[in-house]
Amino acid sequence: MRLDTPTLLLVTVVVTFMVGTLFLLSWGQARRTLALAIWGVAHLAGAFASALLALRGVIPDWVSIGVANTLMIGAYGLIWSGVRAFEKQRLRLDIALSGAAAWGLLCLVPAFYGSLPARVILASAIAGAFCAAGAVDVWRGRAEALVSRYPAIVLLGAYAALYWARIPLALVAPLPSAGNVMDSPWLAILCFGGMLFTVAIAFTFMALTKERAEHEQRHAADTDPLTGIASRRAFVAAAESLLADPARPVALLLFDLDHFKNINDAYGHAVGDGVLVGFCCTAAALLPPGALLGRMGGEEFACVIPDHGPEAALARATLVRKALAHLAIPALPRLRVGTSVGIATSAASGRDFDTLLRQADAALYRAKRNGRNRVEVSAPPLERAA
Ligand code: GH3
Ligand code: MG
Ligand code: MG
Repeated sequence: MRLDTPTLLLVTVVVTFMVGTLFLLSWGQARRTLALAIWGVAHLAGAFASALLALRGVIPDWVSIGVANTLMIGAYGLIWSGVRAFEKQRLRLDIALSGAAAWGLLCLVPAFYGSLPARVILASAIAGAFCAAGAVDVWRGRAEALVSRYPAIVLLGAYAALYWARIPLALVAPLPSAGNVMDSPWLAILCFGGMLFTVAIAFTFMALTKERAEHEQRHAADTDPLTGIASRRAFVAAAESLLADPARPVALLLFDLDHFKNINDAYGHAVGDGVLVGFCCTAAALLPPGALLGRMGGEEFACVIPDHGPEAALARATLVRKALAHLAIPALPRLRVGTSVGIATSAASGRDFDTLLRQADAALYRAKRNGRNRVEVSAPPLERAA
């Protein structure tokens, strides 16, 4: 098989241009993700640089060598900047573009411009450094668990290694000097590698941004935006998985703030919101580790506590109710927050979530009917009938 350099360069130009356009189109749909725009510009600059390299011999050498490599090194700097943007770190465009600037300026020095090994060594050192810095930054962000992180690290690391391997090779097996440079198998291999890198990095970066967007959407669906606790959907799913373990007794507590409408009417919606957040903070501080708190809607909250029977659950609910009743806001001295609580336990009502919820709701209704700001525990059907 013969790798034909001009053909490879043409394919590289087209593929890199398409990838750059794809990044910019994706950015158009997700403007918040600045990384997509930076990667788009980087690939377009890379495509333009490859086109100038391909025109070696047709256009003046200072363009196909000096300008093309300046653009190419700038493109690697931008790839790194895109990674920084993705990882929510400072962009450092000054550092990202300083490599290209250094290369461009050095090309004005005849001793450097005239030495092919010197040019290869500097270009490879800088491009490799940006790839390695990108790999390090993706690694540093690993606290955010994204599976696509690891192919990105391997890819950027491997490409850095490939570039740095060119440095000793430039001395041992240099590229032929101008004239027949397009016939060099090294250039063909580099072109081929560059094209593969472009395609692979595009897939990996796209996968990274898609994976993060999916995580964010799932988090938004699972979280109540006002209080930050689990949404009803996430709460029900978590409660059902707790109930699936037959070895653990579980208590379901249903809280409903008393006369909450009056609080809204008397103090305004914003204070009402503050009371809802205050309830969550108070409850979260008093519930045992392993308890799940969720917002069922409006001023109604639910909590499942593992390893709790009726007495322990009653004690917990009373603790939260009393803490809330004693909540004092200096600016609103007359504000009082009462809570009614209904409890159902797996020991009395079984392990079906809907049944437990129904029974906790019935107990909550009794708490309201019996005067509010109190806790009622659902009794087993036989006991109630007695
Ligand atoms: P009860 O003691 O019988 O539970 O009476 P209540 O006033 O608490 O119950 P009701 O269902 O009549 O009113 C609930 C109120 O909760 C009505 C609604 O405007 C308010 N509410 C629901 N969601 C929110 C919210 O997110 N923020 C605020 N501030 N109010 C909310
Ligand atoms: Mg209420
Ligand atoms: Mg209610």
